[in-house]
Amino acid sequence: MNISEYMGYELIEKIKAEEFTVTEITELIFQQINQTEDKVHSFVHLEEKKAFKRAKELDSKFKKGMDLGRLYGVPIAIKDLICVKNSPTTCCSEILKGYRPPYHATVSKKLLEQENGICIGRTNMDEFAMGSSTENSCYGPTYNPWDLDRVPGGSSGGSGACIAAGQSLFALGSDTGGSIRCPASYCGVVGLKPTYGRVSRYGLIAYANSLDVIGPITQCVKDAALLLELIAGYDHLDSTTVEQKIDKYTEYLDTPIQGKTIGIPKEFFGEGIDQEVKRKVQSSFKELEQMGVEITEISLPHLKYSIPTYYIIAMSEASSNLARFDGLRYGKMVKISDKDIFEAFSHTRGEKFGEEVRRRIILGTYSLSAGYYNMFYIKALKVRSLIRQDFQKAFETCDLIVSPTMPTTAFKIGELVDDPLQMYLMDVLTCPVNLAGLPALSIPCGFDNDDLPIGFQIIGNYFDEKEILNIGYKLEQKLDIYHKMPSLAKGGGN
Ligand code: GLN
Repeated sequence: MNISEYMGYELIEKIKAEEFTVTEITELIFQQINQTEDKVHSFVHLEEKKAFKRAKELDSKFKKGMDLGRLYGVPIAIKDLICVKNSPTTCCSEILKGYRPPYHATVSKKLLEQENGICIGRTNMDEFAMGSSTENSCYGPTYNPWDLDRVPGGSSGGSGACIAAGQSLFALGSDTGGSIRCPASYCGVVGLKPTYGRVSRYGLIAYANSLDVIGPITQCVKDAALLLELIAGYDHLDSTTVEQKIDKYTEYLDTPIQGKTIGIPKEFFGEGIDQEVKRKVQSSFKELEQMGVEITEISLPHLKYSIPTYYIIAMSEASSNLARFDGLRYGKMVKISDKDIFEAFSHTRGEKFGEEVRRRIILGTYSLSAGYYNMFYIKALKVRSLIRQDFQKAFETCDLIVSPTMPTTAFKIGELVDDPLQMYLMDVLTCPVNLAGLPALSIPCGFDNDDLPIGFQIIGNYFDEKEILNIGYKLEQKLDIYHKMPSLAKGGGN
């Protein structure tokens, strides 16, 4: 049996029906990892021993008729910036090497303790989630399972690649400006960025805390809906979570979509969007129309300011959040012979942070400094409000907004590493959603001429995840490409 042919929810059913034990599923998953990992490098730390120990425990509980939650021992891969108790959690940064949190993030607690998912390992990412290619990792890059010369997207590239390569059924990522949706798009899988405040950030190591959200990366929409159902909700440990009803996302998926109105922002189809991407996304609009959905053109006039606004806010927040990594509070000091604490901090931070992280701390500190604060940071906050208002106005005339997820398909490894500005521009279609705090889903909608996956983005109103999952599910079923896997996942070469 090739485990990568099954969806997560199907495996759960098989364990429930006693067709497979949890241990057997765990064996199959590690077999798949062993066959593919040296080519893909999705993981920075594998938890094989612990996973088998847990699988055996769950099998014996199951035999005794005990409740196994809703995940029944299925494997979950967790991005390297979400705390898992006693498991290395390093944000793929030299500065956090050796760190093992003494506590679970709320999402880890829910999935691993309450619902009995099994954490199989920590996935690769851009250092502190800064990047769109997973090349900024201190452990080296992850390779796209569809074409090993290309990036898997970022920053949750390891989570995207492990799902595409069939190395896990469920994965968690985080999305500050597109880091769940970008790898989902480049790896041909499903990625869901929930509304800001929908999922607890407790135990998520912060990059830019007013934008960061944890969400699922899976092979199909139903699995993403299931995972969201399990991680959503108010948490007294995160004051930004909201006490809002959690819908039964999995039950709402098949609701008829006739009569829904979808807005297409004209600004999302401008310069820099690849022709092939445009064509495939537009043909999905036709599919939706055939299913009775109404399409209307909308305008988001301040969208053109999203990239500078996002980068000023993200870097400013990062410069403050990353101040704790100084070798004293977090991280190891590099030289104890330094003459004072300031020299020690600067040696440690200078040596242990990578180039991109240092660049962002410097720029963020600059934009928050006394003489420039009003000109950059405050200005960016004002523009952020205008972008949010644009979306709110648009939602008066449509139920959902759709667009490509990324302007291009996956680029080559090394192609943009020396051109950070070009890399920042890749976020043009995803980061406005974070600035507004809205939920968005990326699903695969086709392939380009090089057989690389193209992502389709569905943006919803606040806390309306059920609507984006519903449309996403219907479109996924209609397009029927979600079973397509890279040949590497099927045991072939690539
Ligand atoms: N590419 C964006 C950045 O570098 C988004 C990253 C993210 O969502 N974590 O900031």
